[in-house]
Amino acid sequence: MDKGSWTLDKRCVFPTASAINWMSLFSGVAPEYHGYVRWNSRKPDVTPVWTDEREEVPTIFRLERETHPESDILVTFQWDVIRSIVDSTAVTNCIQFPQTEEGDWEESSWAADYIKSHHPHFSFVYFGSLDAMGHQYGWESDEYLTYASHIDSVIKSLVEAVQDDDTVFVLTSDHGGHGHHHSSEYVDETLRTPLVIWGKGIKKGHQIGAPTVGMDITATLAKLLGVEPLPHWTCRPINEIFE
Ligand SMILES: [Zn+2]
Repeated sequence: MDKGSWTLDKRCVFPTASAINWMSLFSGVAPEYHGYVRWNSRKPDVTPVWTDEREEVPTIFRLERETHPESDILVTFQWDVIRSIVDSTAVTNCIQFPQTEEGDWEESSWAADYIKSHHPHFSFVYFGSLDAMGHQYGWESDEYLTYASHIDSVIKSLVEAVQDDDTVFVLTSDHGGHGHHHSSEYVDETLRTPLVIWGKGIKKGHQIGAPTVGMDITATLAKLLGVEPLPHWTCRPINEIFE
């Protein structure tokens, strides 16, 4: 947060579950547009709004591929639904790791090695294990907080391995949690999630003042990547974070 721009009140979309929110983060549109409405949907449950030859709303991975055909794009993940919703045919490498404590370290060191050797233009690294701890032990339980500290170390090792003068990091979550759940209870703890963005050209120590929803990250990524926003997007880049 000292090194970048942040908010602890980035809003998720309802229902506050994973496939729905990841798809909004990837596509820049609300569930009513992208059509994923269940926590583990691998394809749209209802017809997406997009009406050209594509059957699904394009993700930021697809837009980056179309804008920069030679781009190296990396996705690493643990929860297998991710492979279905990132539009993996647009991605150079889409690699799954075990959803365990060891898997977290394996994923972060593999991603670090890949990023250092291939210099991808865009990378998405997702750790699903902390969510599993929330379901098992409860959000903010001792076990959950201990695991959050472990994930913090895992992320630190990845960031320290790959940071350079050209990189921008975006740290966020698809949803929060309360008790042992996050999609059936409509409380602030499931809706409000942290967002921290730091790196080249990003204001330091800046608390984001504007209301921010997950889709705004898509528009911000598009701006960072040099991808043209789509005409149907209602999201906008978080312009106040730029120096
Ligand atoms: Zn969950």
